[in-house]
Amino acid sequence: MRPLEDARRDVLSAVELLPIVDVDLDDSRRLALATAVVAKENVPPFTNSAMDGFAVQAADTATSPVELRVLEDVAAGHVAGGSVRPGTAIKIMTGAPLPEGADAVVRVEDTEPAGEMVSIKVAVGVGTAVRHAGGDVRSGTQVFPPGETITPAHMAVLASLGVARPVVHRRVVVAVLSTGDEVVAVDGGALQPSQIRDTNRPLLKALLAELGAEVIDLGIVGDDAAEMRRRIERGAADADAVITSGGVSMGEYDLVKQILTEIGSVEFWKVAMQPAKPFAFGFVSGTPLFGLPGNPVSVMVAFEQFARPALLKMMGHRALFRPRVSGTLIGGVSTDPEKTVFSRVVATQVPTNRGAWEARLVGEQSSNVLSALALGNAFAVVPRGQADVADGGLTSLEMFRWPSTRTYEEAQDDR
Ligand code: AMP
Ligand code: MG
Repeated sequence: MRPLEDARRDVLSAVELLPIVDVDLDDSRRLALATAVVAKENVPPFTNSAMDGFAVQAADTATSPVELRVLEDVAAGHVAGGSVRPGTAIKIMTGAPLPEGADAVVRVEDTEPAGEMVSIKVAVGVGTAVRHAGGDVRSGTQVFPPGETITPAHMAVLASLGVARPVVHRRVVVAVLSTGDEVVAVDGGALQPSQIRDTNRPLLKALLAELGAEVIDLGIVGDDAAEMRRRIERGAADADAVITSGGVSMGEYDLVKQILTEIGSVEFWKVAMQPAKPFAFGFVSGTPLFGLPGNPVSVMVAFEQFARPALLKMMGHRALFRPRVSGTLIGGVSTDPEKTVFSRVVATQVPTNRGAWEARLVGEQSSNVLSALALGNAFAVVPRGQADVADGGLTSLEMFRWPSTRTYEEAQDDR
């Protein structure tokens, strides 16, 4: 058996970065920046008012209340015609450029109209309610390093900098194939005796969509050598990576193995992990192929440990792995010291214990019990060489989903 870390290192070092392209900002979510983003402009671009109010010289307000002559109004999107001199003010709206001569803004709530004058009721310091040019991002500074994952907030920052077409690594295209005579598509009607529904393809397609991949669905192929070969070859030709599920273990009908050995350079590993021990990785016509086991839980564990980080690496992301937290395992778990063991757990933060994490095993832990994955949100990871975790013992929690416990009622307690 190969240690998980060795197998993963080999997979990660075998895959290559996808080409660099520029994409429409609207299409850049979940892609990774290929180059550092350096601001070519100041954000905000000009010094402006943070409030609706009156642009003044702060020194004039020292003796407040004081009346200042209102010279003009300036709205956002407009520039004042004149400048603020001692004894005068310009009425200003949020976001309008600070007029020349002014060094502070008095918010409208702290003033009172007085004919052609305004009565200023408070003293303000220089810079009050003023947003300086470059105060958010200064022109010439690096805003994001290469490898940064673009989130909605990153897209807003890129927009603020005038980056209409961010330079990124291309979105990875992944072909997905389910295998086995017994496997039937979800819309395939009533099951005949011996048939099961294809859960791996919907699972993989959704996991791929979540990481920003584009999916080519190769469907389901029965244990038919010629057809399987045709589909895998098509996937290798059309996609950047191929993911199959099933057929990589020791069974007599494990055609995937036979075909991959014929048409590609694929290695079959027994990885020291549980679940998901059998795993195949290699290349078909230069395209990386991940041969995942058949059992749905094994599919997700193997996808998470091998395919996900490899695909993220191909797309140029710096962050390849799910976040881990450390927490106590209520009830403990018995493990196999020969393997890295991934148990499905529900991990929560305990408000009464300063938000410390704790986890409980969820459902049956065998590798065909899919419901435990949907009900759980983390893997409790016990590394190879480590003994059983006792009740209340510390464990590493790999969060594949952050707890979604914030109901409306819980949010009421936020104050
Ligand atoms: P295999 O490695 O092909 O022998 O598959 C191992 C187990 O996973 C068997 O019980 C299969 O029926 C099951 N399995 C294989 N492919 C799928 C699939 N796409 N969806 C659900 N279960 C599957
Ligand atoms: Mg099979």
